Amino acid sequence: MTARIIDGKAVAAVLRARIAEQTAGLPFRPGLAVVLVGENPASAVYVRNKDRAAHGAGLLAQTIRLPASVSAADLLAMIQRLNADPEVDGILVQLPLPDAILPRPILEAIDPAKDVDGFHPLNVGRLQDGLDVLAPCTPTGVMRLLAADKTVLRGVRAVVLGRSAIVGKPMAALLLAADATVTIAHSRTVDIAEECRRADILVAAVGRPEMVRGDWIKPGATVIDVGINRLPDGRLVGDVAYAECAAVAGAITPVPGGVGPMTIACLLENTVKAALRRRLAHG
Ligand code: NDP
Repeated sequence: MTARIIDGKAVAAVLRARIAEQTAGLPFRPGLAVVLVGENPASAVYVRNKDRAAHGAGLLAQTIRLPASVSAADLLAMIQRLNADPEVDGILVQLPLPDAILPRPILEAIDPAKDVDGFHPLNVGRLQDGLDVLAPCTPTGVMRLLAADKTVLRGVRAVVLGRSAIVGKPMAALLLAADATVTIAHSRTVDIAEECRRADILVAAVGRPEMVRGDWIKPGATVIDVGINRLPDGRLVGDVAYAECAAVAGAITPVPGGVGPMTIACLLENTVKAALRRRLAHG
């Protein structure tokens, strides 16, 4: 068997075009504010890509750059200013923050109605309750990919590798809300390969290059690779050994070009969703 490739670049392009069309029909431009603290090169690239995609979709995007030396108090004051700004519908603080600033109080200071990353405890809780919510962008992107591939979710066995607050846990919550039978595996899971072999849908988000091997895959399963790992030779690989797994799976996402492009598209989608909710709620 050779797996069908789930083309995240193509699905994301369609989603971005749909958002641009929706935005063009609005009487206002949804506003996204991205806060970048310090000079982390990877973060700078992510923020640039987010800014470009937001502009491309007709959003009013601004990037606020603060020095690594900024105090937590000044960063909090900036968040309060953005919370109060009626033109700002979505606020995203790019992680990681410098070591001197604890991320939790910063993320908790963001107005939950503008929390387009879905990291505020109120949104985390609402997601666990299965409510419609601003959900984290990467797992939302995975759900969009599964929908685009017409994957059946109801009643199937889904295994999520990884239990981070950003990917693994919200991923499991979204799959559960879609009626899958969900297992979360992590670094303390006994016989992780055996857990994976039971999966009709396997989502890998561990940050370990090519950890998932071909003989971990149930024939015909859908394999979603969230991992982004840079090898010493410069190659970018996922958490899944792609060629081995593609030989067994029914459908698979590549890295790059799978989940990655969906994350940004879903950030734009969340921003428009937040804008519509907030501005409609405010009349
Ligand atoms: P974290 O490091 O926060 O979490 C990794 C998770 O994997 C933890 O729950 C950890 O378990 C588990 N894990 C680590 N090693 C093993 C192992 N050997 N066996 C089983 N479980 C293991 O990572 P993130 O969730 O933030 O990211 C995961 C990957 O996804 C990374 O490669 C990251 O770059 C990528 N990513 C991609 C995005 C995209 O847009 N495509 C967005 C965000 C992340 P434990 O809890 O027990 O320590």
